[in-house]
Amino acid sequence: MKYIDEFNDPALARRLLEDIHATVTRPWTMMEVCGGQTHSIIRHGIDQLLPGAVELIHGPGCPVCVTPLEMIDKALEIASRPGVVFCSFGDMLRVPGSERDLFRVKGAGGDVRVVYSPLDALDIARRHPEKEVVFFGVGFETTAPANAMAVHEARRHGIRNFSVLISHVRVPPAIEAIMKAPHCRVQAFLAAGHVCSVMGTAEYPGLAERHKVPVVVTGFEPLDILEGVRRAVHQLERGEHRVENAYPRAVREAGNPAARRMLQEVFEVTDRAWRGIGVIPGSGWRLSRAFREYDAEHRFSVTELTARESEVCRSGEVLQGLIKPNECAAFGTTCTPRNPLGATMVSSEGACAAYHLYRRLDRPAGTTGGTTAGSTEREATSVG
Ligand code: SF4
Repeated sequence: MKYIDEFNDPALARRLLEDIHATVTRPWTMMEVCGGQTHSIIRHGIDQLLPGAVELIHGPGCPVCVTPLEMIDKALEIASRPGVVFCSFGDMLRVPGSERDLFRVKGAGGDVRVVYSPLDALDIARRHPEKEVVFFGVGFETTAPANAMAVHEARRHGIRNFSVLISHVRVPPAIEAIMKAPHCRVQAFLAAGHVCSVMGTAEYPGLAERHKVPVVVTGFEPLDILEGVRRAVHQLERGEHRVENAYPRAVREAGNPAARRMLQEVFEVTDRAWRGIGVIPGSGWRLSRAFREYDAEHRFSVTELTARESEVCRSGEVLQGLIKPNECAAFGTTCTPRNPLGATMVSSEGACAAYHLYRRLDRPAGTTGGTTAGSTEREATSVG
């Protein structure tokens, strides 16, 4: 299949791996920012094919995982109200709030619906003017333009019974925060290709220069990731810190100008809390003053909720790359995808879910009778 099979070619993967192995002379640690990249890495065993000196840290790039518990609780509170149709993508329905999830709200009689686009939610609002229709707008720069478009369309068509619960986050401020953290081990970033396809690459050169860190814009197929790692390793070995675009089939320097214009018109930058990390200045979007009437938080006055995090869940440390998922005591025992304690186990892009799907028989470093996440005896798949 065009653009799929050609980026899974085992012969090319071997060539890239040989180049990486021949280049590396000392230990390097790099972070892939996107949860989709994390899944690809774990699914194809890419980390196990790399030299032992190259460690991949899984960053906070899963939008469901970084959505704060308070925001989930706000969604549950709004969805429980009579007369509300609460619309969301399917992956948010099982994310646990402090006491329940959207499935339980639906089971208790709430009108919770899975939609495939915010425009579907807008259509429900148009067809049911007697209802208040709310869309749960979660995600990075990739999903934000469609949500901005829905709000824009609501105003253009005078649809007033529609609002959006916004929890949008921006990647570059998160990278900045990771680099400034005192325990930071990251020496290079594989930037998320789909985010850059919207926003372009202009935000990264300053970041690379300030922190002396290579940033390689990387795609999601096995060869994309190997090429991203290869370029990062070459830069690190040469002592360089540039921005490189290893995903040119999707990413232009200017990104998608139409999408960026829509974002600029409907949203404004704000501080945002990231689950497990805390508030990062300038790391989110909210509706601008001109569109504030479509803000569900404002419309339903749910600004004062107190959330209770699970005491055993270490997803904050997972999201910052401080531990691997299988180092959490609850992993695969009290916490499973069927019974998740934290968002990183719920989301299809979450690191805990990826490890549970592909690595749950591996033992973390320091335990007996097994192997480390980076040096397992299990055969790697697909690209080998
Ligand atoms: S395995 Fe479960 S409890 Fe542990 S960090 Fe991941 S989501 Fe949290």
